Amino acid sequence: MSQDDLNWLIKHTESRASKMVHQLSEAGITHEELLALMGSIPRHDFVEPAFSHLAYSATPLPIGRNQTISQPLTVARMTEWLLTYARLGRVLEVGTGSGYQTRILAHFFNKVHTVERQKILYEQAKLRLSAMNINNVEYLFGDGQAGWSNDVEMDAVIITAMASKIPLALTNCLKQQGILIMPIDQPTPQIGCWRKEGDRWKCLGAESAHFVPLLEGTENA
Ligand code: SAH
Repeated sequence: MSQDDLNWLIKHTESRASKMVHQLSEAGITHEELLALMGSIPRHDFVEPAFSHLAYSATPLPIGRNQTISQPLTVARMTEWLLTYARLGRVLEVGTGSGYQTRILAHFFNKVHTVERQKILYEQAKLRLSAMNINNVEYLFGDGQAGWSNDVEMDAVIITAMASKIPLALTNCLKQQGILIMPIDQPTPQIGCWRKEGDRWKCLGAESAHFVPLLEGTENA
């Protein structure tokens, strides 16, 4: 076999996960531990089985109940903001979904609090992450717009569903100098990162992205 053939073979047999990592790094993600982690997590276990062949592609995918897992670059960008700006103590995630973002947060933060309004997704994510021996996550089935319990203050809040304004209960449970990551649909759909400074919000980054909507109440079926 010629050297060219061998190079071709190596290039085309590169694992789907390492191709994804390569694309993330080309898109400007530089945090090495994050890249290594995303390369090692079996993303195909988090999507609907019919879509597992696309699990490492640059696209959002169905996770059941009409919800989607964000594309890898959006997950990486949100996490990199947290790693750059947040104290890695306690984080609140609104929208557990498949548990993929939760899994990544659990690697970096001491404690993850995650809320999901769809009973089935809540139960599946809990089982999935327990089977992966992830044990620094507290799960809640409920409407995440109500925040977590009053006496717990967060170093960071990440919302993985799109709204027009941020629910007050969520800003209230964030510490001063805490970091908020949230998709907003004004003026165009985007994901942004802010720091809480007194009663003001300092924007630290934003980029265009699409998310499913943040909804009221819960669904049991
Ligand atoms: N972070 C998830 C993304 C899931 S999509 C992942 O990695 O897979 C957003 C999720 O937010 C959906 O599961 C949806 O049911 C949930 N959601 C929407 N509104 C919510 C609310 N008010 N409270 C809690 N979860 C909510």
